[in-house]
Amino acid sequence: MSTTCQRCTTRTDLYLCRDCTARLRRWLADTHNLMNCLETVVARQNRFAETVGPRSATRPLFYNPQAADARRQLAATLVSAAHELATRRGAVPVLPGVPRLHLQPVPRDHQPDAEPNPDPGAVLPLSRAGIAGVAAAAWLHHHTDWLRGDPSAGDVFNRIERAVIDAEHACVPPAPRWYAGPCDHCHHDLLAEADTHGHPRFDTITCEHCGTRHDVEGRHEYLIRQARLQHITATTALSWTHMLLGKRIPRGTWDSWVARRRITPRDIDRDGHPLYRFGDVERLARDHIAKPRRKAS
Ligand SMILES: [Zn+2]
Ligand SMILES: [Zn+2]
Repeated sequence: MSTTCQRCTTRTDLYLCRDCTARLRRWLADTHNLMNCLETVVARQNRFAETVGPRSATRPLFYNPQAADARRQLAATLVSAAHELATRRGAVPVLPGVPRLHLQPVPRDHQPDAEPNPDPGAVLPLSRAGIAGVAAAAWLHHHTDWLRGDPSAGDVFNRIERAVIDAEHACVPPAPRWYAGPCDHCHHDLLAEADTHGHPRFDTITCEHCGTRHDVEGRHEYLIRQARLQHITATTALSWTHMLLGKRIPRGTWDSWVARRRITPRDIDRDGHPLYRFGDVERLARDHIAKPRRKAS
C-alpha cells in the first residue's frame, strides 16, 4: 500500500509516516514523566504554588485547576485512543484499574473534583487518572504498528498532540511572582516580580492594569490581615509563615507546639487533617522569631 501520511502528507506505506510515528512514540514513552509533573503541580508541591500566596477566601488557595484539567484530559485522550484501537482490532487493552469515569471526554467547563491536600514531603503516588493514562500510553506504545495501519491514525495523533501540549504548558511554572492582593483602585490582582526565595524584588508594585503604584510593605500587611482568619493545614501554615513572616519554623518546633497544645486545630478538612487558624500560627511564630532560644515550658 502506498499512501500519504495523514499528519504531514509525506508519502509512506501506512497512515502515519516513520517520522510522525517516532514523534508519537516519544510522547507515549514520556507520558509517565509528564503525568508525574502534572501530579506535582496539582499537589502544590512546587515553588510557584507557594509564591502565589493567600488569596480571597472564595478562591481555593492551593489548587491548580489548569493542571488538574490537563491531567484528566491527557489520561482521557490516551485511554480512549487505546480502547478504540483495541476494539477495532478485536483485542483487549491491558489497563489495570482504569475507571470508566476516565473514558468519558472531559467537558470544557467541568468543575474539577476537590483535590486532597497531601503533605508536600511525601512521595505522591499517581492518581487513578494518572495511572490510567500511563497504562494506556504504554499499551499504545507497544501497538504503534496497529495505530500506523489504522485509518484513525491521523486523528489519534492530533488528539494526543493537543493533550500533550496542554499538559506541557500546565507543567511549566511561571516566573516567580509575589501575589500582593487586589489593586485598591481597579481590583485586578497585583503581582510583583519575586526573587528565588519568593520575596518581592522591589519596594513598590505598579498595577499592570491601571498603573497605580503600591507600597510593598503596605501590601504585605494587607496579606497578613487577610491570612489571619483562614483555616489551613500545618503544611500550609508553615509555608505561609515563611512566605508572609520571612521565617522558617522547623517542623520539630511545630510538632512541639501541637504536642504541648500551644496551638490547637479550629477545624478539620474533608480528609480529616486538622486545620489551624493562621492568626494563631502567626502569634506563636512571631514569639518564636523574637525569642528564638526560649523553650516552651
Ligand atoms: Zn508524517
Ligand atoms: Zn489597578
